[in-house]
Amino acid sequence: MKNILLLGATGSIGKSVLSVIEQNDQKLNLFGISFNKNILRGREIIEKFHPSFAHIENLDLYKENISSEDCSYLNNLSELEDLINHQDVDIIVCAISGFAGLKATYIAASSGKKILLANKESIVSGGDLIIPLAKENNSEIIPIDSEHNAIFQCLSGEKGVEDVQKISITASGGPFLNTSISDLKDVTVKEALNHPNWKMGNKVSIDSATLVNKCLELIEAKYLFDLDESYFDLVVHPQSIIHSIVTYIDGSSICQMSSPDMRVPIAHALSNENRLPINFHALNFTSLNLSFQEFPSDRMKIQNIAREVCNKGSNLGSVFNAANEIAVESFINGEINFNNIYEVIYRTFDGNNVSKELSLDSINDIDMQTRIEAKKVVKSIT
Ligand code: NDP
Ligand code: MG
Repeated sequence: MKNILLLGATGSIGKSVLSVIEQNDQKLNLFGISFNKNILRGREIIEKFHPSFAHIENLDLYKENISSEDCSYLNNLSELEDLINHQDVDIIVCAISGFAGLKATYIAASSGKKILLANKESIVSGGDLIIPLAKENNSEIIPIDSEHNAIFQCLSGEKGVEDVQKISITASGGPFLNTSISDLKDVTVKEALNHPNWKMGNKVSIDSATLVNKCLELIEAKYLFDLDESYFDLVVHPQSIIHSIVTYIDGSSICQMSSPDMRVPIAHALSNENRLPINFHALNFTSLNLSFQEFPSDRMKIQNIAREVCNKGSNLGSVFNAANEIAVESFINGEINFNNIYEVIYRTFDGNNVSKELSLDSINDIDMQTRIEAKKVVKSIT
């Protein structure tokens, strides 16, 4: 039996992880969870799965609702650290959304345990810190972001990345594929959240609609696979069936295919020697009509910024990520139009210098300063 600590249990990835656990309850046990403020969902999970520990950011809110007495409720950072390092935890799933997940990913990286990583923002902001820390402590990071998990699967069985010629990261293109940025001024939050293939949390859904998600994933991939950005192509594949493609120097291209269902990469990452069975929507190969197209030319500027982040280093990742988080939040709050998201990122990113200082504190500082700058840009637009 493997004991799982699910950080961000009340979210969309959390739901998929719980479904895989439920379908494999002879092998997987939900040992602990964390969440922020979704008390109702948190309570449901605790009552159904009986985890031994629940770390709750807004514990005071929850206290009035405590239902299960056999669960220990935790709250502050040191208790989160104790929980992640608890000797009975085998696997840590990092599924908090946004920069808020950095601290947990950082602690997990030093734990020496197996980490299932969904929280791409923590790698974009802190990859230069987290990846070496994980290596030093023998913490194995397995990606569950579908594209990265696909690459991971395509690379497994190979002796290393030396034989890789190119990796194509696929993008659905989101709800506004084939619409130019200038025509997106009046789209509503509801339209932007309405992803054609995936049902995800709000932040990642907006990132998919802007294609910034693919840019974050490019940076994530560079860190996870320790390859220069020039190895990675971003290619639009509207059906979201092929989740990425690795091309080897001998001309073979290997891809991973599945229905767009996050339980597939999660089940793979949770498996040990054998794959874990889940109920999945089988692909009907004879009815598939798969297509590919170029990354939209008017989103190349944002892709080039991501490539600059890859080439120059981690504090630029924190700037890129924080500028985007403020831009997305401002759009969701109705302060800016959809197409202004790009402007907020461009103007906040512009003129930032590379600093070589590398610590959790310095990353937090850069994140905080960038948020202030990005909010000024938002204000100047509104
Ligand atoms: P959701 O918004 O659905 O869930 C986020 C989770 O994080 C919730 O459990 C939330 O708690 C918790 N959380 C948010 N803020 C904090 C905080 N300050 N402290 C502690 N916990 C917090 O996000 P998703 O599940 O969609 O995404 C999670 C991560 O996975 C993101 O990084 C995303 O990019 C990545 N990802 C998601 C995919 C998807 O299909 N959803 C696909 C690939 C990657 P509460 O609910 O209580 O607020
Ligand atoms: Mg993805």
